[in-house]
Amino acid sequence: MVKRDFEAASMGSRGFKSKSAKAHMDNGAIPANISTVSKTDTVIIGNGPSALALSYLLHGNEPWYSPSEPHPDSVLHRKLLKKVGLSPLSDSQQDVRLYDVLRTPNDCDDITCHFPASVSMSYSTAALPLNTLLDTLLRPLADVDMEESISRVGWRKTNSDIVPHVILGEELKAGGQWAGDEVWFGDEDDEESDNGLKTLSYADLLSLPGYSLGDHYKQKYHKDMDPYYRPTRRLVAEYYATYPRKVGIEDVLFPGTSVTNVEKINDNSGFNFLVSIKLKSKSGSTSHEAHVIRCRNVVLGTGIFSHRIPPPPVFAPFFESRLDTTEKLRDDNPENTLTTGQLPLLVVGSGYTAADAILCNQGKRPIVHVYRWDPEERPSPLRGCHPQAYPGYAGVYRQMKDAVLKKQSATNEIYQGFPNAVVTETRADGTVKLSMKSEDGTFHETFIRVADIEVCIGRRGRLDYLAPALCKEIGIKNIDYSNMESPNNARESQLPLTLARTVTSSRRYSTRSRKPMLHPTTSGTAGKVWVRYSSLRERVERNIEVTPNVFIIGSLTGDSLVRFAMGGCVYSAGRIISNNVPIIDSSDSSTAASETSSISESEEPQKLFDGRYYSEMLGCFILLLHSSGVF
Ligand SMILES: Cc1cc2nc3c(=O)[nH]c(=O)nc-3n(C[C@H](O)[C@H](O)[C@H](O)COP(=O)(O)OP(=O)(O)OC[C@H]3O[C@@H](n4cnc5c(N)ncnc54)[C@H](O)[C@@H]3O)c2cc1C
Repeated sequence: MVKRDFEAASMGSRGFKSKSAKAHMDNGAIPANISTVSKTDTVIIGNGPSALALSYLLHGNEPWYSPSEPHPDSVLHRKLLKKVGLSPLSDSQQDVRLYDVLRTPNDCDDITCHFPASVSMSYSTAALPLNTLLDTLLRPLADVDMEESISRVGWRKTNSDIVPHVILGEELKAGGQWAGDEVWFGDEDDEESDNGLKTLSYADLLSLPGYSLGDHYKQKYHKDMDPYYRPTRRLVAEYYATYPRKVGIEDVLFPGTSVTNVEKINDNSGFNFLVSIKLKSKSGSTSHEAHVIRCRNVVLGTGIFSHRIPPPPVFAPFFESRLDTTEKLRDDNPENTLTTGQLPLLVVGSGYTAADAILCNQGKRPIVHVYRWDPEERPSPLRGCHPQAYPGYAGVYRQMKDAVLKKQSATNEIYQGFPNAVVTETRADGTVKLSMKSEDGTFHETFIRVADIEVCIGRRGRLDYLAPALCKEIGIKNIDYSNMESPNNARESQLPLTLARTVTSSRRYSTRSRKPMLHPTTSGTAGKVWVRYSSLRERVERNIEVTPNVFIIGSLTGDSLVRFAMGGCVYSAGRIISNNVPIIDSSDSSTAASETSSISESEEPQKLFDGRYYSEMLGCFILLLHSSGVF
């Protein structure tokens, strides 16, 4: 077991120069005291579920395998014990610290190499073996029987393996993507009713260590959660926002901080990374206040869903004037007999996001749906949604299919589907021209007038915040958006839209405010590093530590489901803990860091000028989604 100097723990989990000052909130949202942290061991970028889980580990909560209740896979059980020199026969009461069995990528290969051929268990072949390993240890047999799925991992609090770190995340609350506007889509009703948008996963598969979603449910509703419960997104967002306080990791959380640059420097101290940040105001814009943190390890947990793919240029005339459209409609109809509520909403897309937009507007206004329909070659992910498990998604899919078969939809809502139609023109007044191919092969056009348009053609993450040299070292190509949409790459995004020229705008849209938002890390930048589930996959298959001291966690690994986040977190934490040595305050002694750094420790927090560079139901279905790259 790795022992470290207790001094590090006593300095607090943030680390160097961390003051005990309570988080001061600017506009009730932004903790101003990030400026008190100029140096720390590890910076975690992104405040999603994986970042929170990693922070739990770095706070000294160690994962232990308990052989007294062996994992149902006896081969796995034996391998875990043997890895640390224990005998499955004589040492069956001795717990195994998981960090000790996962020291190198080879360790993981050794332990998991039998997974594909296992007859006793059915393991995911889509997820990284490392992530599958932790998933099965935390929830053995979850895909077969949730009620019988009892964790084989115990958590022990230690004072020795605490690593100073901070979590920097753009969202103003903990929870990453769950904290943002992008998961909402309209109003959600009470959790106990069936009206809110439900998650695809069962609640337990969204739980983090130390305080589960079941715990949160019990605290809120004073009763036990059903093991096959699918919570609303609202409840999950609330759970992740509450989690840090419940497990005592809120001291390292800095919401509303946008990382604008990560740069590697040559330094003998080992503190070789400079992480530049800007603060975000409650309105979503970034302030000019900027700050640099120096660290030894950088963990990239920024996900692959932070940005909706911008609408193609054919939609520009409509979107550019959208804010005026309501006014215009009123002018055209002085008696206000025609309201935007009576005009349809145009939804473009064939995936979950499009279905969410439809479900949230059903019954409120007519819906025109333009979507790709190619069940043989590129089926909609909605096709796999069982009507009993996912009535909403299955219902949308049925409407889409009925429109193809030219059947009248059996629902009460007004829904008009245009399979394989192409939007060829949009106008400021809400007029949209659609081009469609008839059965005889001829094209015909139709005009509709809409109140609003939702272009739901997929999401991407971005790694613009990595300096080009670091991108190169990690092996991330600076993929241009237009390349991302090439026929070979695009999935949900490959729709029959006019994609002659792609929008290079940095806007993303808040579904709540309906106003275009300017993404803080992209304004004024030339390079855009778009990432999807496959972008870093090859690298992380070799090693989660993609280059020395740089780790990838969460959906960036290509395993986007929360259930698969723990493997990367446990491995990274083990590595970070074993590398960690106490940080010495430069006011006590002249550390190598302060002597050799190009940034002096004695200086007040660094001000940035233009110093930046460019810039996933359960079981088979969920694994299917996962393997298809939908999540
Ligand atoms: C609509 C939808 C529904 C989903 N439903 C499920 C489900 O039911 N079950 C499931 O398991 N998974 C689901 N997922 C998958 C999702 O990937 C995971 O739930 C999870 O959120 C991934 O966590 P993460 O830690 O990778 O980070 P994320 O939650 O993706 O968070 C990363 C955060 O980093 C922030 N960030 C990006 N760049 C920067 C920067 N430069 N500086 C600071 N912060 C930055 C982003 O804004 C984001 O808030 C769903 C995804 C979507 C889009």
